[in-house]
Amino acid sequence: MRLDKLVRRVGCAALACLLAACQSPPPDPITRDSVDYLGTVIHMAVYDGDANEALDEAFARIADIDRRMATQNPDSEISVLSRDGEADVSPDTAALFALARDVSEASGGAFDITIGPLVALWGIGSDDPRVPSQAEIDEATSLVDERGLQFDPSGGVARLKTQSMAVDLGGIAKGYACDETVRILRAHGVRSALLDLGGNIYALGKRPDGRAWKVGLRTPIVGETDGIFATLAASDCTIVTSGGYERYFEQDGVRYHHILDPVTGYPSDSGLLSATIVGPRSATADALSTACFVLGRDKGLALAASMGYEAIFVADDRSVTITDGLRTNFALTDDRFTLVG
Ligand code: AMP
Ligand code: MG
Repeated sequence: MRLDKLVRRVGCAALACLLAACQSPPPDPITRDSVDYLGTVIHMAVYDGDANEALDEAFARIADIDRRMATQNPDSEISVLSRDGEADVSPDTAALFALARDVSEASGGAFDITIGPLVALWGIGSDDPRVPSQAEIDEATSLVDERGLQFDPSGGVARLKTQSMAVDLGGIAKGYACDETVRILRAHGVRSALLDLGGNIYALGKRPDGRAWKVGLRTPIVGETDGIFATLAASDCTIVTSGGYERYFEQDGVRYHHILDPVTGYPSDSGLLSATIVGPRSATADALSTACFVLGRDKGLALAASMGYEAIFVADDRSVTITDGLRTNFALTDDRFTLVG
């Protein structure tokens, strides 16, 4: 897919976020960009270690994850599972199913990778999204139930309870690819890097000058997404944001975004503009950010705490809530937003 088309489709989270990431960027990283994998924009900047070899290996791994897990790829394990109701899945994919199940259970079903029939029905992010009829939504919603996915956590045959069910790892696979990239970079001696896989940021180590990375959080308002509303000082952690301001379509003056509530079958409407999760593992943070965006502020705070992750939630009224572990790292930079908790 061409870059301009992709950027229009997903917004420019990756590039804008990293450009905003450092006030005075340290010099001369080895960088690598891609729009070829996981339906998103990837940008990596590596400052030390065997940077070129590390990036080659990381991108080969990301290509491998894309081949197994992307719904955009008709031959992926996920596409075969959704089409045939049964597929042989690799230990990678099965491990991600297991993590998805944990977050699904912890979130009371707000995160559910069997969201596939609803994603296909709405087509948000595809070339022809549409508002389905209520009957269609009811039917697709009745197919969403993570417990209908049977799998062995170490890999092998996975099955869906009915063939009309479908799996979609769009809410978690980028995080997994991010974790794998970090693992590979570290194995190549990298101690300083800033990664962005479609909004899944990872601040690896520190800047070359020994200071923490400063990551810009994008303004979660439609049409303003080149700006940042806050910064976060970060080192050896992931920062993952879900929001409704990037991937959406409009019909009859109503905006429909891409994060769907498995209960209503509609784009979630929990009073949040964005949910950001901060912590050690990007796959977990990815699933949690999607879940928290569906659940809203109060239930989202409880969920993040239960999994040991920090959170930043921006509500529709532009009030911002952060968890205690981020108090010294977080700074609001846009006075239209108010820190309330
Ligand atoms: P994210 O941008 O990480 O919040 O993920 C959004 C993507 O996850 C969507 O484009 C869908 O592919 C998928 N998705 C949408 N709603 C849900 C949900 N409630 N649970 C799990 N995945 C979802
Ligand atoms: Mg997510």
